Amino acid sequence: MTANPLLDPVTLPRFKAITAVDIEPAVSSVLSDNRRQLRAILAVQEGSLPTWETLMAPLDELEDRLSKVWSTVSHLNAVNNTPQIREAYEKCQPRITEYYTEMGQNRELFEAIGRLAARTNELQLDPSQRKILKDYLLEFRLAGVDLPAEKKARFAELESTLSSLSNRFSNNVLDATMNWSSLVSDEARLAGVPEITRQGAAEAARRKGLEGWLLTLDLPCYMGVMTNADNRELRQELYTAYVTRASDQGPHDAGLDNRELITRILTSRGELAQLLGYRHYADVSTARKMAGSAERVNAFLQELTDLAVPAAQQEYQRLSEFAKEAYGITDLKAWDISYCSEKLRQQNYAVSQEELRPYFPLPRVREGLFEVASRLYGISITPDTGGMETWDESVSAWNIHRDGTLLARFYLDLFTREGKRGGAWMAECRSRRKLADGSVQTPVAYLVCNFAAGTGGNPSLLTHNEVTTLFHEFGHGLHHMLTRESHLRSSGINGVAWDAVELPSQLMENWCWDPQAIALISSHYQSGEALPDALLTKMLAARNFQAAMATVRQLEFALIDFRFHQVVGEVEEAKVFEVVRSVQALTSVYPVPEFNRFQNSFSHIFAGGYAAGYYSYKWAEVLSADVFSAFSASGIFNPETGGRFLELILSRGGGADPLELFKDFMGREPQIEALLLQDGLMRPKAA
Ligand code: ZN
Repeated sequence: MTANPLLDPVTLPRFKAITAVDIEPAVSSVLSDNRRQLRAILAVQEGSLPTWETLMAPLDELEDRLSKVWSTVSHLNAVNNTPQIREAYEKCQPRITEYYTEMGQNRELFEAIGRLAARTNELQLDPSQRKILKDYLLEFRLAGVDLPAEKKARFAELESTLSSLSNRFSNNVLDATMNWSSLVSDEARLAGVPEITRQGAAEAARRKGLEGWLLTLDLPCYMGVMTNADNRELRQELYTAYVTRASDQGPHDAGLDNRELITRILTSRGELAQLLGYRHYADVSTARKMAGSAERVNAFLQELTDLAVPAAQQEYQRLSEFAKEAYGITDLKAWDISYCSEKLRQQNYAVSQEELRPYFPLPRVREGLFEVASRLYGISITPDTGGMETWDESVSAWNIHRDGTLLARFYLDLFTREGKRGGAWMAECRSRRKLADGSVQTPVAYLVCNFAAGTGGNPSLLTHNEVTTLFHEFGHGLHHMLTRESHLRSSGINGVAWDAVELPSQLMENWCWDPQAIALISSHYQSGEALPDALLTKMLAARNFQAAMATVRQLEFALIDFRFHQVVGEVEEAKVFEVVRSVQALTSVYPVPEFNRFQNSFSHIFAGGYAAGYYSYKWAEVLSADVFSAFSASGIFNPETGGRFLELILSRGGGADPLELFKDFMGREPQIEALLLQDGLMRPKAA
């Protein structure tokens, strides 16, 4: 019998050898092996004092073995999705979840880790080890492991109720979105709507056997109409349908109303928080985040709101004047905002992403990106010489060295392809860690984007948005690959708080907006000419167009989310309205129609993982803008600043409290001024 290539103890996945039939046996074998070994590890703990070497090191080993198999399978499922791979993946996925749930509920393991944590000083554990134990115990507590029996039963009941309520919430939003459509039979009504949106609508009509154009609430169609349709009534019709999804307002089925689910979800989360000994769910959320407390998040959101609202009011004022002059609209409504804004944007900064493409050929962008990373961190990036196998011929493989030492490897899979999931992401293939024999496992990353491949002998040409995406994902990749941490649970992005994990990625985006760096990553793909100054100026100016209005919109979502999760006790419908209204009174620069029920489709917080965590988006932007201000001040390619960032934040991964790391680098707590300057909401102080 030939060995299963997924279980082959080689350094890197053997993509050329792996087939769908290898998946299930490999997963089964690792899961049963891990379960057996976990029992053996726990048996050792009985009657002896736990040490790092007898408890945590072998746990890392189990985790790493599973991750090597499962990360390869998940990766193939995402980038080479054949029916066979999908079937095997879907079969194994629940078993992986079951395994982790089991680990998370293992009281014996919890107690053993607790006993080890109590010996931290005696064993002279290092800061990363202490952080790992602390995080581990917190996860156990938040999963209700140490609750007394009767509370534990109630906890489990609440968790299962919440999971079904969230599921119903999300299904109602999906159904309400899909059930609504509006048939347009006179093309004149679609004046202004771009060709691509019209084609989609015509196709949707044909599929239903109808003549004309079927408008739907799918985001591309909705945005296409709201941003471009000259017909004001049409915009009003779509707006109304969109913001009343899953509610008792608007044109929707009453059976899909999420009102009651909102109050039940919030009430259950509140009870769950109190069972765990917290005041409310916002405390549960911040317990594992960089912000650390609800008070800090409240203060942060308040400060940003106070500063952004006046700037947003000015932007709105400008928009109202423009709407009046150019379109004779004197009573600007919610459904006019996107439309008039787009016209104003075109008038002021007429530069399209398409115009920029010829100046961003992929090979040039990639070289420039590697050059930026090498200037900052003293690394060199060269094509792989270590025999990395790829899963498609368009994928390239790379090595990162510093001072002649191999630090990391990565794969670049940049082009769209059949069977490849959309979007862009970084995923871990191998994590850095010290092995039992003292050697180090080299970290390996997958960097995946979905750009259009070059045609007719030309290179792939990127829009500036795509360039930014590549830099963003590479930032996550550097976090993973340049770590110096020795343990799986603190290495790279592992163990990094959710509201801090976007710092390295958003930070990298800044180099896409700096003229010195743009010179490195751009040149015309035919003539080799630099990006003309006129285009560059417009592109940079357009970055901040209506930045304040966008900020207050994000703040509105963040505040509503965070205030919802601080209500104590039974949450009544009136309370939900009160929260929404009070936040809108703070943040809205234009009147929100009375019928707006956006909270009824706020799936991020009611059906996704963002409950009391929506603020993270803005929080991470503050961190990255603040850190970049240190680079700006010292010169954006300053190797000393780069070296400090690498040493004090990037290489530390999840090995320390993110706020402490930030303070080590900046010498102070985060400040929001840098973000306000970056977004043009504040003027630089005169020198
Ligand atoms: Zn990201």
